[in-house]
Amino acid sequence: MLPDGRVEKLLRAATLAAVLEAPLSKVVKRPLLEARRILRRFPGVGEPGADRLLLFSRARPLLGLESNGLRVLVRLGFGQDHPHYARTWREVTARVSPEAGDSVPFALRAHLVLRHHGQTLCTRSRPRCDACPLSADCPSAAPGAGPHGGRAGSKHVSASR
Ligand code: SF4
Repeated sequence: MLPDGRVEKLLRAATLAAVLEAPLSKVVKRPLLEARRILRRFPGVGEPGADRLLLFSRARPLLGLESNGLRVLVRLGFGQDHPHYARTWREVTARVSPEAGDSVPFALRAHLVLRHHGQTLCTRSRPRCDACPLSADCPSAAPGAGPHGGRAGSKHVSASR
């Protein structure tokens, strides 16, 4: 992004924060739907970003999946890779959220572990299924890496966010 764009974004965010007349530390404690709606008014914050803000502020036990964690879960069979990133995100989030429970530390750890797994082993273009501890149960594991004999990347999440 050009510096001009960043400045404009910051100004819009600061203006909105002033209009809200509440520190964000209080906004994140509002009822979930209201907090999400408010956070999404900030420039550059979509559904995933709003959930991440709620997670990292330790206000809500949401997974707040980013693209790496999302890709891992799609390959593990928790959803499909739709052409529209938001649809994939919503589908996977809806499927895994009940398993996340109501513990913020657990959700934070799950978020970080999934992101790390997607960054290091289950990478976008060259997943290392041979070194993956999940390969035995992964329907997308590369041939020979698990009992399913699937092909890693066949459930490819292409979004780069
Ligand atoms: S087995 Fe391969 S595709 Fe499945 S989670 Fe591990 S790295 Fe990803």
